[in-house]
Amino acid sequence: AVLSDSLHLCAQEERRLRVLACFKVTEDVVLEDSLRVGIDGSLLGCTYNALYCRSCGVILGFNLYSSSSDLAYLRGFFCLFKDCILCYFLTTKTTIDGSEMTFPALNLNRKLSKLKEQLVIIHVRLEILIRRLEELNWQNMADKQGCSSRTACLKPERARIKSNN
Ligand SMILES: [Zn+2]
Repeated sequence: AVLSDSLHLCAQEERRLRVLACFKVTEDVVLEDSLRVGIDGSLLGCTYNALYCRSCGVILGFNLYSSSSDLAYLRGFFCLFKDCILCYFLTTKTTIDGSEMTFPALNLNRKLSKLKEQLVIIHVRLEILIRRLEELNWQNMADKQGCSSRTACLKPERARIKSNN
């Protein structure tokens, strides 16, 4: 079953727990309804919902509901045990055991600044589009008012476009 996508990795690999935190998983990952309480090991004192595989029923990981402060950053994410999963590489079409993978450190700051740049670009494009729309409206109104001399109503932009044809 396909469980998730590396695009949805959203936290640093938790080395002690050997889990990958994903923001999103597929429908093949089932979130258990009942809350479990960790009575030993790394999840001692934490409450969580177990995650299991829809097709084979194997426990794949957990979704933390409450935890100690050191694991708080994993709360709400889908944590998949590295040792329970296989990773498939789209580029090389190869499969490797999750336990043998070292996942790159995520640099959220870099991602955020890239996102900011993209937002600014989109914002500028939207401004240009809004201005064009306003110009078109202005032209429409001018056309409807039926000026005596048609060309006198055209804004320079439109005149330029026409001469290019
Ligand atoms: Zn399975």
